[in-house]
Amino acid sequence: MTHPEIAATLSRSTGPLDDALAQLRQAAEALDMPDGLHEMLKVPRRELAVSIPLRRDDGSLAVYSGYRVQHNFTRGPAKGGLRYSPAVEIDEVRALAMWMTWKCALLDVPYGGAKGGVAIDPRQHSQAELERVTRRYTSEILPVIGPEVDIPAPDIGTDERTMAWIMDTFSVARGYTVTGIVTGKPVSLGGSLGRASATSRGVAHIALHAMESRGIDPAHASAAVQGFGKVGHGAARFLAEAGVKVRAVSDIDGAVYSHEGLDIARLSEHVERTGSVVGFEGAEPIDPSYLLTLDVDVLVPAAVEGVLTSENAAKVEARIVVEGANGPTTKDADTILRERDVLVVPDILANAGGVVVSYFEWVQANQAYQWSERDVNDRLEERMSRAWHDVVSRAGAHDLTFREAATEIAVERVVDAHRLRGLYP
Ligand code: NAD
Repeated sequence: MTHPEIAATLSRSTGPLDDALAQLRQAAEALDMPDGLHEMLKVPRRELAVSIPLRRDDGSLAVYSGYRVQHNFTRGPAKGGLRYSPAVEIDEVRALAMWMTWKCALLDVPYGGAKGGVAIDPRQHSQAELERVTRRYTSEILPVIGPEVDIPAPDIGTDERTMAWIMDTFSVARGYTVTGIVTGKPVSLGGSLGRASATSRGVAHIALHAMESRGIDPAHASAAVQGFGKVGHGAARFLAEAGVKVRAVSDIDGAVYSHEGLDIARLSEHVERTGSVVGFEGAEPIDPSYLLTLDVDVLVPAAVEGVLTSENAAKVEARIVVEGANGPTTKDADTILRERDVLVVPDILANAGGVVVSYFEWVQANQAYQWSERDVNDRLEERMSRAWHDVVSRAGAHDLTFREAATEIAVERVVDAHRLRGLYP
């Protein structure tokens, strides 16, 4: 697509892209940003749409759509996850890429933002089929990725094995091993200790800061977590370890509740065995949509975007929402939650632990040296706390929501980098 075509599509956007553009517009107005620069930041620097033919195990042929969107490179190589989900479409990938730019800037890691996706349901495919899809997708986007260009990582429906296939495909094409092409890869292939739990550890760390700011003692607090994947599972575990009663969790199949707090270790074993939280004996089943409105102190949406909406935001009982997922709160819901004095800790702060340790993984690949897990975790907490305090002080000084403050800080840093670099030619 040409720039005018992309710009025209953006003006008709709905869903997460609409939310992302509204957040940028607000920051642009607050920062008194020139129109031209605002226009530049609305539109991704580069987009690639690819078609991925797959020879299925039964010999039939299927074709899937894949994307890689690179929103910005001004502060460094583009960085962002790769999502496998039937819901993947270009506008969603654009929104997620833009949020990655802000997240990297807010946490002050030297990256721009990107995101990738394939419109496929991984649960309907064998490992062999997923490997073929991943390798073909990688080979299609090969010209636009690289350790100094754009570095993919896991997201919904992908994991460290997916990253190992990408690394191998890229390395075979180059003729030598390139460990810095992906992050979130297995530790035995140069992955970082602590990367697998980094996002959820960061979510819990920020949730504890948020509780402290509202005078809530974790030992007497309760939480509900939507999503029990890489982010939700770890967030539930770390919150429980901090003394919080995690009363409910859900996944795509259903939700479970225990007033006394779920035994997360036993629940994990159940999920390992059965593939879902549904049927866990130590809890009662509840309607998954009910989880979002439970009377708990902290709500952690850690599944997909757009789950807190104008329909349910007025019913949210939690005093704090910590966005483990990207874009779980629509802009209408944001307004309602603000009016109701619910503290919403935005995604670009709350779930940034993953990209922080991805950065550490990339640094370790560049150094060909492995840091200890304690080193990784300490540096992660230090960076997350710094970003938390930056956001709190900006929000306090200008009477902003945490999302407005976080976005303004991030956009300002990207704009500064643009100004210093100037425009070529
Ligand atoms: P995942 O695939 O590991 O897990 C997703 C979980 O959400 C699964 O338990 C799935 O069953 C559940 N789910 C999906 N649709 C649902 C629905 N409609 N209702 C309830 N549950 C549903 O993915 P993940 O890596 O944990 O990512 C979750 C969110 O966190 C995404 O928004 C992702 O972009 C964001 N995120 C992930 C990372 C990371 O490092 N993995 C980093 C930052 C942000």
